Formats: sequence, C-alpha cells, structure tokens
Amino acid sequence: MYVVDLTKIDGDGDFPCPRCGVIISPEDETETIYIILEVKMIEDERFQESDQQLEELVIKCNYCGSTVHITGFTSLLEYHDEKPDPHARIYEKAERTRS
Ligand SMILES: [Zn+2]
Repeated sequence: MYVVDLTKIDGDGDFPCPRCGVIISPEDETETIYIILEVKMIEDERFQESDQQLEELVIKCNYCGSTVHITGFTSLLEYHDEKPDPHARIYEKAERTRS
C-alpha cells in the first residue's frame, strides 16, 4: 500500500505510481492504467449533501497491482474558490465513480 499526498505534487494532477512509475492521470478515462477502488468523503455537517468534500481516493494501479491511497484533498479547500483547482478532474472522476 502506498500513499500519495496531493499537497506534495506540482502540476495538473498527474503523478507517477509510487511503485512502478507509470503516470497516473486524472484525464485518463479508460481505466487502462488505474481503477478507482474506493471514494471516501468527509463526513461534515457543514457541507451540504451536494457539496461534500473528497477526503481520500483509493486506486489500484493496473500495471503493478499496487493499491495507492491519494490524500491531501482537504488542504486544497482553502484556496478552492480563488484559483482553479488542479485536482478538480480527480473530483469529477470520483463523482462519476460514486454515482
Ligand atoms: Zn504501478
């Protein structure tokens, strides 16, 4: 099991698999490189049902089979309204997986 902290990653949300190095991109719609195993949302009464925040994403790399926990979403909240969120596409993908 590996953990990737998005706050430590620059760029547009792509990051290499911690084990095999394949680039995991939120733009990848094919599930060839990775699949989403689990989406954990923050349970917080301050958020409306439609405005829940992503806490953690668990994916599986299809190349090496590693389970990767993606964290660091919460720290992005502070500037969420001020500039484009580089990880917005991950949110979107997670939303589609959930519904
Ligand atoms: Zn991998």
